[in-house]
Order: sequence, then C-alpha cells, then structure tokens
Amino acid sequence: MKIICIGRNYADHIKELENERPDEPVIFMKPDTAVVQKQFPFVIPEFSNDVHHEVEVLVKINKVGKYIDAKFAHKYYDEIGLGIDFTARDVQAKLKDKGLPWEKAKAFDGSAVVGDFLPKTEFADLQNINFELTNNGEVVQQGNTSLMLWKIDELVAYASQYFTLRTGDIIFTGTPKGVAAVKEGDVLEGSIEGKKLFRIQVK
Ligand code: MG
Repeated sequence: MKIICIGRNYADHIKELENERPDEPVIFMKPDTAVVQKQFPFVIPEFSNDVHHEVEVLVKINKVGKYIDAKFAHKYYDEIGLGIDFTARDVQAKLKDKGLPWEKAKAFDGSAVVGDFLPKTEFADLQNINFELTNNGEVVQQGNTSLMLWKIDELVAYASQYFTLRTGDIIFTGTPKGVAAVKEGDVLEGSIEGKKLFRIQVK
C-alpha cells in the first residue's frame, strides 16, 4: 500500500505558508510505515520541534489503474475518509530552502493518520464536503472540498499518469488553512460533516 499526498491544493493554505500557487498538482509520497497504528498515539519525533497537523480528506483506491481519464476516475474509489499529514515544518523549511526532497519532513514513521472511511454514496456532492479538525476540543482547521484547486477526480487521474494505483492505496488531497504545531498532551479529532473519523493523542 502506498500513500500519495497532494500539496498546495487549497488557496488559503498556500497563502498562509507563503508558497507559490502551482501550475499542476504538487505530489509527494509516504511509505506504509508512516501510518500510525489504530489506537496508538502520535509520538513527536526527536528531530523536530515544530510538527504541524494538516487535516486532509482521503480517497481509498479500490482497483488497479494507470493513465486514468478524469471522467472515469470515480470508478476507482468507493470510500472517502479523513486523516492527518503530520509535517515537521522546521525540517521541511530547511529542505525547501535547498530544493531537496521533503521525505524526512513528511514521510517519517507516524506521519500519517488514517481515520475511518465512509462510503462515497453518503455524500450528495463529493466536491462540497465540510470537514474539520479540533485540538483539545477547539476547532483548529475547517475546510470544504469545494475549495480544492484540483478536484478529487482530477487528482486520481493526475497521480495515475505517474504511479500505478493499486487497491488500498490512499490519496491525501491537501490541507486547508489553519496548520499549527502540536504538543505533548494534545488530542486531535477529525470529522466529516459532523461524523468523527479519528481521535489521536500526541505524545
Ligand atoms: Mg499536506
């Protein structure tokens, strides 16, 4: 199983990090070892003092696909979920400065929270889904998939031009604004349209 992540897919988040608006989707990957096991806490890694939460809508691939046309992309997933793309922002800033790959900042053990999934048929419009992240009960990130620069089907199609998609692969579709550092003792809870899909403690 692989995790394909999209960066800079919400204009308000691009602004908050003072990034350039990309001409095509920004893609990076996380290995399967990045996934936090269910019921386990997220442990802040020793190499970072500034790990940020990025709540993101997830898409779970349901069959093998390559060179998928955007108009058929909807056939390659049945479930939508929510997760966190944990990012060691201090490490990423150094790598970005030097034009180096982001893996150490983005793909480390525990950097991916994969919450529960819902059948996509539960949503009238996948490009109008509200989602949010709370930290210790307070809303810290709120988004709606209508604000994506590239829609879910476009992302599936785009990623499949480079990487064969397989059953069980997960696409992280980018984060809205509100990213911030986590600290020991935080409890992060994510929900889509009021349905809680994960709860994770920070240690
Ligand atoms: Mg992200």
